[in-house]
Amino acid sequence: MNIRFGPAGNSSAFYEEGCKSSLDMPGWLKLKGLNAYEYQCGRGVNIGEETARKLGQLASENGIYLSIHAPYYINLAAADQDLREKTRSHIMKALTAARWMGARVVVFHPGSGKKDSREDSLKRARSFLGEVSKQALDEGFGDIFLAPETMGKKSLLGSLDEVLDLCSVNPNIIPAIDFGHLHAVSQGGMVAEEAFAAVFDRMESVLGKDAFKRIHIHFSPVEYTEAGEKRHRTTRDQGFGPDFTHLARQLSKRSAEFTVICESDGRQAEDALVYKTIYKEVTAKLERL
Ligand SMILES: [Zn+2]
Repeated sequence: MNIRFGPAGNSSAFYEEGCKSSLDMPGWLKLKGLNAYEYQCGRGVNIGEETARKLGQLASENGIYLSIHAPYYINLAAADQDLREKTRSHIMKALTAARWMGARVVVFHPGSGKKDSREDSLKRARSFLGEVSKQALDEGFGDIFLAPETMGKKSLLGSLDEVLDLCSVNPNIIPAIDFGHLHAVSQGGMVAEEAFAAVFDRMESVLGKDAFKRIHIHFSPVEYTEAGEKRHRTTRDQGFGPDFTHLARQLSKRSAEFTVICESDGRQAEDALVYKTIYKEVTAKLERL
């Protein structure tokens, strides 16, 4: 079973313990008992080939599964031709970096339609993602999944249904389900196991059972306002959901194979370990039943 836990980017502790380069990360994560790492390219894909290949080699030696978070500037729904080409270039660059480092997933934010209706924005995003994902397949990136993320603000494209819709465009697209975002956008809706079950039922109805073989998950406690996500919190902050136990039970009951990337503020590796422990406890308990 492929079950993985790891951080998005580098925890504060990583630097406090004297590490400087992301190249130190695979060894550091292995020591902590983690096996996934989402490399952050939010502000652009700036990693060179040599560093990326080195990171990939170290990750493979230490049993760390890599993914990449692509630039925040991606907007599949952009109507402007220039902006669309920029989006294409961000995605292709992220795929190239993923190829160098052996990452299997490129996560990205779908974008937003500025002026027109939500349906028109989604239609445009769907058609452009079809084009770009086809190009990825044609250029030999078929083993790297493109993963549109569920977003934490209503104003952005990326509700669960929109993401699932985008994922049905081509087989090299899978959802990146950010449960903190779903919690924020539903004003605290992810409070019971049933809410998590509903997400997976919906996923199964659109993408089929195969989707449970490789679920890409973002998880962290989140603070929100009426507009949605405000900031990421940590498991040490009191009063912020969602509770990972509900998700752990669902993943376990459905025998899902998955990667949980934790985005807790500054404690992303530590909280990834908290989640791993919860998952192990929950699974042991369910197995005893
Ligand atoms: Zn994201």
